[in-house]
Amino acid sequence: MASHIDGLPVYRYDEVPDGLATRTQLVRDHRRRPAEGQAPRGWLFYHGNKHAPLYEIETARPMRPLSEAQVAAARARRTHAYVCGVCLTESTRPLELSVDRALACGECVMAMMDIRNHDARHRAWQRDRAAAAAWAREVLADPAAAVVAVTEIPVRPAEGVWERTAPSRVVVLSVDGQVLVDVALTPSAPPRRKRDVAADAVPLDQVAERLVEVFGGRRLVAWRGSEMYGLTRGLAGWWHAAHGAVRALPEWRVRHGHELAERVLHWSGHHGGPPEHRPATPEPPVGDALERAHQMLRLLRRVAAIGPVAESEAVR
Ligand SMILES: [Zn+2]
Repeated sequence: MASHIDGLPVYRYDEVPDGLATRTQLVRDHRRRPAEGQAPRGWLFYHGNKHAPLYEIETARPMRPLSEAQVAAARARRTHAYVCGVCLTESTRPLELSVDRALACGECVMAMMDIRNHDARHRAWQRDRAAAAAWAREVLADPAAAVVAVTEIPVRPAEGVWERTAPSRVVVLSVDGQVLVDVALTPSAPPRRKRDVAADAVPLDQVAERLVEVFGGRRLVAWRGSEMYGLTRGLAGWWHAAHGAVRALPEWRVRHGHELAERVLHWSGHHGGPPEHRPATPEPPVGDALERAHQMLRLLRRVAAIGPVAESEAVR
């Protein structure tokens, strides 16, 4: 930093002698302007590379005093910049963010973001819930639809067999509650507990024909599609042995989107609905396959019974 420019001394902010001010400081702090032909007395060095001329305050020309209205307007501008337009709290710093075009304090801005986020979640949940209900109604109205539940038990995996569980009971209920299938199966590998196997259990091969016939072309609804994997593999193995590759196994697997668990979670807003408005997520069905199938049917009806979210449940 040069100590003189054009023969005038250069000052940092904290070195400026009393009685000198820049043009900006003259106007802002003293309501004066440099007089016609008033020569600077020095330079202010700022921002590491800039210089502003410094003038004698005494010699500078006083500006016309502000009218009362101007003073009031200036005060209002200042007040406006510092007072939250939502909660009217005065801030120590000028406000920068706004809510609905009014400058607002940080707390009010956060609160508004919360509300908007909340509203968006609520709308998303309404859509999810309506979609789940529409799906359930469609399933219940479909004569080809059925609810399926499979009980699996722990087994000792045989050589080269990956599964650690095997299906031990299969129940299929039509959507009007008729039992289409209820069979106990002997597991494909030795069970870990003998008592897990029902007295009337039969090998899958004995009932495979009937199961394939009942499943064929049906819209099956399972709690989770994964509970069908063991049974599906068993039936595919039997089909291959019985028919070879000549005939394709009829399509009956639980198709994507027919997992009741997912629909129920969407319906109850588990996937992000506002917590204070969502109904409790129903318990997953428990018990043996027959009990679970009946619980699933009841859940399906409960989901179907809910139309669009009622006005009383809407946030605002
Ligand atoms: Zn506020």
